[in-house]
Amino acid sequence: MIVSLIKKIFGTDNLRELKRLQPLVNQINELEPAFEQKTDDELKAMTPQFRERIEQGETLDDLRPEAFATIRETSRRTLGMRPFDVQLIGGIALHHGIIAEMATGEGKTLVSTLPAYLNALSGKGVHIITVNDYLAKRDSDWMGKIHTFLGLTVGVIHHGITQEERISAYKADITYGTNTEFGFDFLRDNMALTADMQVQNGYNFAIIDEVDSILIDEARTPLIISGPVERIGKQFFQDLKTPVERLMRSQNQLISKLLNDAEALLPDNEYEACRHLLKIKRGAPKNKRFLKLVKDGPLKKIIDQIENDNIRDKTLHELDAELFFSIDEHSGTIDLSDKGRLELSPQDPDFFVLPDLSMSDELADMSDDERLEKQQQLEKDFSEKSEKLQNVSQLLKAYSLFEKDVNYVVNEGKVQIVDEFTGRILPGRRYSDGLHQAIEAKENVRIEAETQTLASITIQNYFRMYATISGMTGTAETEAAEFLKIYKLKVLVIPTNRPIRRIDSTDVVYKTKKEKYRAIIDEIIKMNEMGRPVLVGTVSVETSELLSRMIPKRIKHSVLNAKRHQEEASIVESAGQPGAVTIATNMAGRGTDIKLGEGVIRCESCCYLCEDEKTKNCSECPDPVKQGKKLSNCKKDMPCGLHIIGTERHESRRIDRQLRGRSARQGDPGSSRFFLSLEDDLLRIFGADRISGIMDRFGMEEGEPIEHKLITRAIENAQRRVEGRNFEVRKHLLQYDDVMNKQREIIYALRNRALNDDSLEDLIQEHIDEIAPGLCDEYFAEGIPPEEIDIKGFKEAVFRHFATPLWNPPEELIKAKPEELEQLVLDAINGVYKKREQQFSPETMRQIEKWVFLRVQDELWKDHLLDMDHLREGIGLRGYAQQDPLREYQKEAYDLFLKLDSRMKIDFIEKIFTVQIMPREEIIEQEQQKNIVLGRGKDPDQQEKKPTKRQQPKVGRNEPCPCGSGKKYKKCCGK
Ligand code: ADP
Ligand code: MG
Repeated sequence: MIVSLIKKIFGTDNLRELKRLQPLVNQINELEPAFEQKTDDELKAMTPQFRERIEQGETLDDLRPEAFATIRETSRRTLGMRPFDVQLIGGIALHHGIIAEMATGEGKTLVSTLPAYLNALSGKGVHIITVNDYLAKRDSDWMGKIHTFLGLTVGVIHHGITQEERISAYKADITYGTNTEFGFDFLRDNMALTADMQVQNGYNFAIIDEVDSILIDEARTPLIISGPVERIGKQFFQDLKTPVERLMRSQNQLISKLLNDAEALLPDNEYEACRHLLKIKRGAPKNKRFLKLVKDGPLKKIIDQIENDNIRDKTLHELDAELFFSIDEHSGTIDLSDKGRLELSPQDPDFFVLPDLSMSDELADMSDDERLEKQQQLEKDFSEKSEKLQNVSQLLKAYSLFEKDVNYVVNEGKVQIVDEFTGRILPGRRYSDGLHQAIEAKENVRIEAETQTLASITIQNYFRMYATISGMTGTAETEAAEFLKIYKLKVLVIPTNRPIRRIDSTDVVYKTKKEKYRAIIDEIIKMNEMGRPVLVGTVSVETSELLSRMIPKRIKHSVLNAKRHQEEASIVESAGQPGAVTIATNMAGRGTDIKLGEGVIRCESCCYLCEDEKTKNCSECPDPVKQGKKLSNCKKDMPCGLHIIGTERHESRRIDRQLRGRSARQGDPGSSRFFLSLEDDLLRIFGADRISGIMDRFGMEEGEPIEHKLITRAIENAQRRVEGRNFEVRKHLLQYDDVMNKQREIIYALRNRALNDDSLEDLIQEHIDEIAPGLCDEYFAEGIPPEEIDIKGFKEAVFRHFATPLWNPPEELIKAKPEELEQLVLDAINGVYKKREQQFSPETMRQIEKWVFLRVQDELWKDHLLDMDHLREGIGLRGYAQQDPLREYQKEAYDLFLKLDSRMKIDFIEKIFTVQIMPREEIIEQEQQKNIVLGRGKDPDQQEKKPTKRQQPKVGRNEPCPCGSGKKYKKCCGK
């Protein structure tokens, strides 16, 4: 019976895989009695024995049964938990680089100890990735007991530890930490100026907890270490704020008028009214009155129809022209109309029109000098105006599409992004392309400087460096295709230890949000009166706070949202107490177990279990309370367990599953229900037609909800569509990052070589051998008559690159054969190089060379990243010119990289021949000081952290300031 149930749920492939693993589980079970007999010392002695056997040539797979039996027994003794068979299966899956889908509360933390121990035996390191610092610390303390008992070392990296602690945490057999910490350590290591400042050592085996959250949700934004930009163009947010606000007011007045007109036309002249309403949709899609008016399906349908007709007839711009600006909600683009331009700059409507850069007639009549000057003027004008236009567009976006407390919060004078998936604040992350500054201007907080990327990597590419990665979560299955495609990770759905007895009710849909919220409050009160705990999941901070205000005073409740995430773990922990009401944004407190309080479970096997099998005779149930009672009575009398209320469907089904999964852990009873309304974003933007069609068919009364399978299915389809689109976005990000990734690999490999090699002499020789002959070829190209050879220029070039004067008389150079000329030049250069080496001692010279190499490479790489950013921004436009933007991007990125490569060689050599040398100690000291600050100060997650205190820095006045500002020392801290 169990087998057939599993088959029904998980499909046959999954079942086959589970069957395949069963013999191994049996083997471990057979070993159990023998391991129970072992003394503590005998158990501890297993670790050295395993290591010995690995040396003798046994593989980790050979050790699986005994190693797992060792952990099972150790866990029993140290933590009082004996891993269940399903946990062993999870452990085996993880060991083989598979994602183990195990429901919430199944004990995944413990599961990870099995593969962690086994893989740590190889001595190559195991990294366990958690979603936040709190869990990294909790899990390393908790599970560390098992590992340290067995003689392994456990480390944890988190915000705020010292460099030494970090290094030692990575040296441990098993290291816990968040993906952000691991990722930033990787980037910082690749900015370190000496090898001993690097903290990581290898990427062997990683176990990622809550893997969907990390590899899918967080993978949408890359990790970036950045510093302020010094020279980028001016920004005009402050100056433009007032005109843009005026424009917003005018648009809003226009929208109000259109709304009045539309209302007056209704209900007699629907078509004309909808023409007005379409304009509102284009001009203020989030206008509350508008949303209320069109919430009934029919109007919306007509509006969409008119819009489609206009798109087909290419007349949409005529409609848009009546607005001050138009917004495309799907793509998030904003277009300023002529009317809008006039409103922004009444004196000079052309102020926001880009000048024509092509050669005008006017230019044709000018002298070369005049033309040049005019062109430069035009270019300057152009770039300033396009910057202003860009600023206006970002400001309009900030005002029209970004809502405070939904998309972002303002905390202590800072605008902080709220993650739409988790509802958490993303500290230090900023919207790109000036949008963040625009929101700062709107909220009247300090506008922070635009920053420049110093190093960046996507989560995907970070984890691709590991020999093996594996993951665990309660919700992976819906994203199985993406895991396989992007990470080559398979998903194995592992059955729960005890059958799930949660009742998931079908969604109820209301016409308006208001009715929906009222129904939610009623449900909360009902559950509360029964003494059941309730967890209410919301998509935004705003909804959380709204519901919190609506709950009657007598009901005590906690609100868990992005503003209070520090306390989230302890609040969530007590969410299972009798009568507890907890309102939490999506997934907040994920990873923290909700244990049910006393009295919440009233019977050990209540009928919730039987819900789907109505034919089952209740008297079969062993529970005495239920004996002799009818199923329906039993359900009414026995409400128990945690009740989940969803206040909106999320874009992704996975997140909804996650919320439901918070209830009914380890065979507990529980229930869940989602409340929706036609005004919800998901229904409005993506599923409205189908759903309102169904609604019409069933006829819906005011205040009366509708509950139907068809609706649930239509919503699921809408979710699938959005999931698909989001997958595309992530794939797209990755395709572009792949280009960068190859370049990053080359540059970082070069860098590590320079960092770890004793000497860069070979590299320098290679460069000299490449550059010098290149110069000879250039100046003495075949076919140039001897009298036209630019000897003076040639000598200057050699001097510029190698600080090497060529004293040979011109005739000698002209007469020489090409090989002779090359040799002669090379000899001169090498002579100078040797002389410099003698002058400063070879040892000092080696140090200097390393230092110069790293400085030059880092500086140029940083500029290159900026170029790549610009390329990326500009490339989107190529799509219009019938070119494949990705192909174009690859091609131009390659050209940029070639340029970077040759610049790097030339700059490096020039500096080697000209650099002035300070005493070695001073250099090392300076390197280290810079590294500490550079590596730490700019990590977005560590912004509050103060730069490490130094004694009297020895920094040249023209050197970059060690505070990391990017300015010269004399203009910054050295003032
Ligand atoms: P998950 O991460 O899968 O949601 P946790 O690792 O947080 O679950 O564990 C949930 C709870 O189950 C914890 O309180 C843990 O102590 C308990 N637990 C896990 N495994 C066992 C076991 N084998 N025996 C008893 N309790 C267990
Ligand atoms: Mg967990």
